[in-house]
Amino acid sequence: MKTIEQIAAELQGYDPQALSAERVNQFLAQLVEPVTATETVGVFEALGRVLAQDVVSPISVPPHDNSAMDGFGFHSSQLLPGQPLSLRVVGTAFAGKAWQGTVAAGECLKIMTGAIMPPELDTVVPLEFVKAQGELIEIPPGVVSAGDNRRLLGEDLTAGQPALRRGQTLGPAALGLIASLGLPGVEVVRKLKVAYFSTGDEILSLGEPLREGAVYDSNRYTVFGLLTRMGVEVIDMGVIKDEPAALEAAFRQAAHEADAIITSGGVSMGEADHTKAMMKQLGDVAFWRIAMRPGRPMAVGRIEERGKSAALFGLPGNPVAVMVTFLAFVRPALQRLMGCQACEPVLLKAHSAEALRKKPGRTEYQRGVVSRGADGSLRVRTTGNQGSGVLRSMVEANGLIVLHHGQGNVAVGDEVDVMMFDGVI
Ligand code: AMP
Ligand code: MG
Repeated sequence: MKTIEQIAAELQGYDPQALSAERVNQFLAQLVEPVTATETVGVFEALGRVLAQDVVSPISVPPHDNSAMDGFGFHSSQLLPGQPLSLRVVGTAFAGKAWQGTVAAGECLKIMTGAIMPPELDTVVPLEFVKAQGELIEIPPGVVSAGDNRRLLGEDLTAGQPALRRGQTLGPAALGLIASLGLPGVEVVRKLKVAYFSTGDEILSLGEPLREGAVYDSNRYTVFGLLTRMGVEVIDMGVIKDEPAALEAAFRQAAHEADAIITSGGVSMGEADHTKAMMKQLGDVAFWRIAMRPGRPMAVGRIEERGKSAALFGLPGNPVAVMVTFLAFVRPALQRLMGCQACEPVLLKAHSAEALRKKPGRTEYQRGVVSRGADGSLRVRTTGNQGSGVLRSMVEANGLIVLHHGQGNVAVGDEVDVMMFDGVI
């Protein structure tokens, strides 16, 4: 593992006092290494987990040609342009068991959705398109073409081919796919453990009476929610008072138990507290000022305890800054730790409903409400007050407008990037 100093030396344009958001992510990608331990879990337990190995299909899906509709199966060579086709029905094939017999020229087979297609048939005409009279049916001209409504063997998956790739986060569709292969379970990366605590003498835990100058701890709850959505194991360490002994014990325990530690508060310039000092004392830590808004100060590094090391993310204290720095930096870093590949959020483009003031030279994350305009295109407005302590604005928003480092003012109607919250927050 590289030290903070080594990573910093290798990173072009590294300036801890004015780091761009892009540099932060490049730095963090060097700081964290994917966990290698894996475990085998059942299909239900695999939801949200990261696949540790390619899943190779042991069978072809579907395992045989079958009908995609309830209808009549026949061979298309008998279709003549502009002419109806009359056929005699010789039997009925149901899903779940093979129909015994053969279908000759001039004949057809009544066939249900999912039933095996006998090899001599290549096309299914849906029931509703034909005129039936006793044993005879008539297919009107133009209602069906060769190959229609036939699902081919292996069209979903072919035996021996990778059905899922390692590094993929397993969602509902992947669970279904794994089950469709008849596999009882899959090998996934072991769950990440993330410890978090809030710092600051003014921070109250729930249940404590409100006193002057104090605020209730909200960061632990947002961090809990964000982590839980990522499917990691959380270790909640509460609010830690600004006392060296308490901080030391918390950092040591967290480093011993977790893969990553997330703290909030105590990392800004003017802090007279012990949090930064303790991070420095116990770990290899850099203190940054990031060219972004909200969320300028941040501490990152590694803390070691009894031969075990944990990545440290010391987030600012402001409640919105915590969420924004989490989404912008911590989440991608944790995903990398989890062995997740190609999991960056897709940014949408929306037309700004308002003019936005923006200085080039820093990345701004504004809380936005995305909706569909009258013309069907996406539009986004801000939630108003963008103060970094206004958590209400995060609740009202359904995404973050990302105004990139080099970007300047935005005019009404300009397209902006939006990171949607859906599935993340
Ligand atoms: P700091 O980064 O410690 O200077 O904190 C910045 C602001 O965030 C201060 O107004 C703190 O009171 C507030 N803050 C810090 N930690 C929390 C927390 N856990 N919950 C709510 N507000 C907090
Ligand atoms: Mg503080």
